[in-house]
Amino acid sequence: MRNYQQDRPLTKSAIVIGGGLVGSLCVSLLAQRGYKVTLFEKRGDIRKLESANGRSINLALSHRGRQALKLIGIEDEALSHSISMKGRLLHNINGHTKSVIYDPVSNQCIYSIGRNYLNRALLDVAEKDPNVRLCFHHKLTDVDFQTGFITLKSIKSGEILQTTADLIIGADGAFSSLRSFMQKTALFNFSQNFIDHGYLELCIPPERGGKLHPNHLHIWPRRELMMIALPNLDNSWTVTLFMPFKKFESIRNSENLLHFFNDIFPDALPLIGETELKNFYFSNKPSALVSIKCNRYDMNGKFLIIGDAAHAMVPFYGQGMNAGFEDCFLLNEILNETRDDVGRTTVLFTKKRQIEANAICDLAMYNYEEMRDLVTKPSFVIRKLLDTY
Ligand code: FAD
Repeated sequence: MRNYQQDRPLTKSAIVIGGGLVGSLCVSLLAQRGYKVTLFEKRGDIRKLESANGRSINLALSHRGRQALKLIGIEDEALSHSISMKGRLLHNINGHTKSVIYDPVSNQCIYSIGRNYLNRALLDVAEKDPNVRLCFHHKLTDVDFQTGFITLKSIKSGEILQTTADLIIGADGAFSSLRSFMQKTALFNFSQNFIDHGYLELCIPPERGGKLHPNHLHIWPRRELMMIALPNLDNSWTVTLFMPFKKFESIRNSENLLHFFNDIFPDALPLIGETELKNFYFSNKPSALVSIKCNRYDMNGKFLIIGDAAHAMVPFYGQGMNAGFEDCFLLNEILNETRDDVGRTTVLFTKKRQIEANAICDLAMYNYEEMRDLVTKPSFVIRKLLDTY
């Protein structure tokens, strides 16, 4: 696809707040169009950290996200660093498994990819573009929608910086600072829902990873709770346990924990390992899961929120990052359509995106029930349940 900028040099500027997955991809897309782009990220450069703390260690990458990676030329490289998952592998309580292939007709699949790898790769691509300036340790602290100026604070020196650009994008995550300023303006509606369930990441180490059936997303559906495992390139598996916070709290000591795993996930326990399980479980706290919806993503013809800042969703549909990447793809398409009229683009973005983004948030919520319970039921039961939804 040709970008409008390729037909005519641009003299536009953009600021992207947040150098997570979505922000760092967005920077490259805008720079490719000829925008002079500055990225402000409150954390340090994750490429310089030995281990960066993030939410999930790996993620499912789907067609939605791949389209945007393709636009900046790293789809193939990303896929070569990922593992295909052609279906779900369901583990019942007796340790029996069943493979359910996602697309037996045309073999489409999703890919397990490392969050850190992908974020680093996206920053590398951005940095290579002469139109990009990356500013780490800079936190957005204030926004003036009337003048169009934003204020940032250097975390290292405490210095205050005020700046503006033709287009200012908040890709600063579920608890977005830019969105928090939008929330204070009239007619901006917003909803935030934490679910009663939290998640904890565990691991099956590489030496036992070969015991799990490859190229699948493994699921242990247990009605009120579930566990999933996604493969990593080093043969290990990232295991995520989702269950009510109350249940997490009720497991207080090693005896309770081993008893619970022996009862509920008997085939997974030897793969994770008893000692490792106790270490992971008692040295980490479960994290919360939130769903966020807004009635608009644009403000004053200059400001736009994308990714989790605009539509954070619970992770059960595996589409949060993918939907954020799709935002970047759509933004690029609208800029083509409006011939880089930024004001019209931001308004059109809300118009074209809001219903779809809310729908993905709802599907993600529904898919929790699907994954932890309905996958075990015959389809006529599911049809009946869907009628009540
Ligand atoms: P973030 O990744 O949150 O990045 C925001 C960035 O903004 C951060 O770097 C932050 O430091 C920075 N920032 C914040 N405030 C400021 C400020 N004031 N100034 C400057 N910088 C700031 N999605 C999928 O597609 N597939 C999956 O399989 C999947 N699995 C998941 C599993 C779990 C357990 C969870 C919790 C989520 C999962 N997701 C998945 C969702 C995915 O993680 C998110 O949708 C994605 O990370 C959103 O990216 P983002 O760049 O919008 O936000």
